[in-house]
Amino acid sequence: MTANDMKNITLAELIDAGGFECECGRRHTAGTKRVIIESGAVSHLPELISECGAKKPFLLSGHDSFAAAGDKVCRTLDGAGIPYVKYVFPLSPVVPSEEAVGSAVMHFDCSCDLVIGIGSGVINDIGKILAAMSGRKYIIVGTAPSMDGFASATSSMERDGLKVSLDSSFAYAVIGDVDILKNAPMNMLVSGVGDMLAKYISLVEWLIAKLIVGEYYCPSVASLVQNSLEKVVAAVPGLIRRDESAVAAVMEGMVVAGMAMKYAGLSRPASGMEHYFSHIVDMRSLAFPECGHDLHGIQCGIATLYSLKIYDYIRTVTPDREKALAYVRAFSVEDWNEKLLAFIGPGARAMIKGEQREGKYDLGKHAARLERIISDWDEILGIIDTLPAYGEVETLLKTLGAPTSYDHLGYSAEDVRTVFTMTKDIRDKYVASRLLWDLGELDEAKKVL
Ligand SMILES: [Zn+2]
Ligand SMILES: [Zn+2]
Repeated sequence: MTANDMKNITLAELIDAGGFECECGRRHTAGTKRVIIESGAVSHLPELISECGAKKPFLLSGHDSFAAAGDKVCRTLDGAGIPYVKYVFPLSPVVPSEEAVGSAVMHFDCSCDLVIGIGSGVINDIGKILAAMSGRKYIIVGTAPSMDGFASATSSMERDGLKVSLDSSFAYAVIGDVDILKNAPMNMLVSGVGDMLAKYISLVEWLIAKLIVGEYYCPSVASLVQNSLEKVVAAVPGLIRRDESAVAAVMEGMVVAGMAMKYAGLSRPASGMEHYFSHIVDMRSLAFPECGHDLHGIQCGIATLYSLKIYDYIRTVTPDREKALAYVRAFSVEDWNEKLLAFIGPGARAMIKGEQREGKYDLGKHAARLERIISDWDEILGIIDTLPAYGEVETLLKTLGAPTSYDHLGYSAEDVRTVFTMTKDIRDKYVASRLLWDLGELDEAKKVL
């Protein structure tokens, strides 16, 4: 397979193939074997349960998601004579914490041989953990195309009050019943679009990282995500009317992005600096009750706009070796760590530990990166030129009635600038804020936010 083949491939063809030999030299395999996105998709549950070799599923759901799809699932199972045990979290919203996982485990019936999640973000994340822990296969009946975790093999959780991504399990089958999905709350549909718009940034940063730090990159996987992104953008006008084809396109995009992460074996194709803005907002809301948060995809959509502003700034930069070296020499890691802890709270400890392992602030490593940046500057600008205009993405979000800044979370412009400067410390990934630190331009760049 090549990047070109990926341009016109359908999700069905992708799933049928199971995996493929790729021009990047790797063989990519997806865990998810069945994806059914259509009106009435829940009616396929009995055959999928049988394909899993299961006889008695355990249904895991939340209050709202069970109200959206629970009856339909239970009626389908009753009609097929399939016994099941169900557990619906009593509290709403369900928080992806130790308590919720413990509650799911304590209500799990060991005579059940399959886990079926009925929900989206949090329920799916907990369902994947329950499946992994119990050694059962997993099926997700999606209730909203709000995030891209349906076909991925990790769970986004809160552990010890910190945001973590845990290896869990992937879904054998993803059911996207359009009759259910189209009735999801509008902010959850918008969240899916926001999580997809984020891919504009993540794809560009993946390529820049390949250039500057030699990160593994797969053009086929990137092309697959780009293609889905374009389909989701085209679906935006229909989504406002809750058109079935538009809702299905967003759900497909969410599944493909999850599969892309599984193919690549990393989150690069689906998450970049914009996701780090969102992670910091999440961590602060855990540490400080006065700090607001919103749905994952809404936060990522807004941060896509912030990131586009930053890339517009990068376009104006001419790398200056002396300026960069002087900036980096004057940088104090100790002072910076204090700032991280004060602004983000205890979640920053994992970031500080990460830096101790990685050493991105090491002067020798910086000097090597800087030489690459200077010699490849034109190529970097060429990659950045593939980004859409700020106004284009802003219009999409406004069309959807989505917020376009973190104002509604209680963030001042100065807070947003601080979040931006800290995105470079979230994970060991090369993103725009790192590029600007390397150039000695970080403090000037933040002023555009
Ligand atoms: Zn590849
Ligand atoms: Zn995401």
